[in-house]
Amino acid sequence: MPRYLDDAQRQELQDRRSSWRWRSEWPTWAVIVAVYAGWFGVTVNARTLGFAPTVALLAVLSCWYMSLQHELIHEHPTRWPLVNMLFGLAPLAVWFPYEVYRDSHLRHHDDAHLTEPGRDPETYYVAPEQWANAGAVLRAALAARNTFAGRMLIGPWFSIAASWREAAQAVAGQRWRIVAGWAAHLVALAALAHWLEIRCGIPWRRSCSAWDTHRSRWRQCARFRSIARRSARANARSSTRPHGPGDCCF
Ligand SMILES: [Zn+2]
Repeated sequence: MPRYLDDAQRQELQDRRSSWRWRSEWPTWAVIVAVYAGWFGVTVNARTLGFAPTVALLAVLSCWYMSLQHELIHEHPTRWPLVNMLFGLAPLAVWFPYEVYRDSHLRHHDDAHLTEPGRDPETYYVAPEQWANAGAVLRAALAARNTFAGRMLIGPWFSIAASWREAAQAVAGQRWRIVAGWAAHLVALAALAHWLEIRCGIPWRRSCSAWDTHRSRWRQCARFRSIARRSARANARSSTRPHGPGDCCF
């Protein structure tokens, strides 16, 4: 049942409903094309782009993909949830299965309990007993999370930790629908990681291997520099040393 601020807003929205933009939802379709074309366009050209630009672009596109998943959860761009879900199943943002994000986010939209700790999974408040039981480190982290920088830097880790805790609880509670969602997500993620490594040259251990490669190359260069310096010093000594009776020159 739609709720409106006033009659003027009701009328405005009714007028918009007749527009082609509203009925076709073409902006959402355009976002779907842009996100998928961008994400796969970057990955298949990763060798040309280089590691750092690839990571930066994929970070932006993965965030945009989660924004798209949010639209899909709210019944866009079609009226059929199953069709919308098809556009959000790919594990492009890695951390959450689509179904887990959907169930959690729809709990967040239970307006009667919005922001209530224990009811709203996206609240930034904590219950008094949770705060009382938290140690100094967790309290500091919770306080930092409620700043702008904290939401950017440590907020995602709270979300990831919460979703993994729920996954563990689902296994313990034998809630097989959620467990199956996680299993399907992990299988798809493994397939995607394999494809990224074979087709795009992006190993999932890329940061470690890049560091190792960089370190070994740096050591190799350092060895060459050391040999070159020793050779240059030897040449300098031989060219400045006065020739004695035992020296041979060719
Ligand atoms: Zn929402």
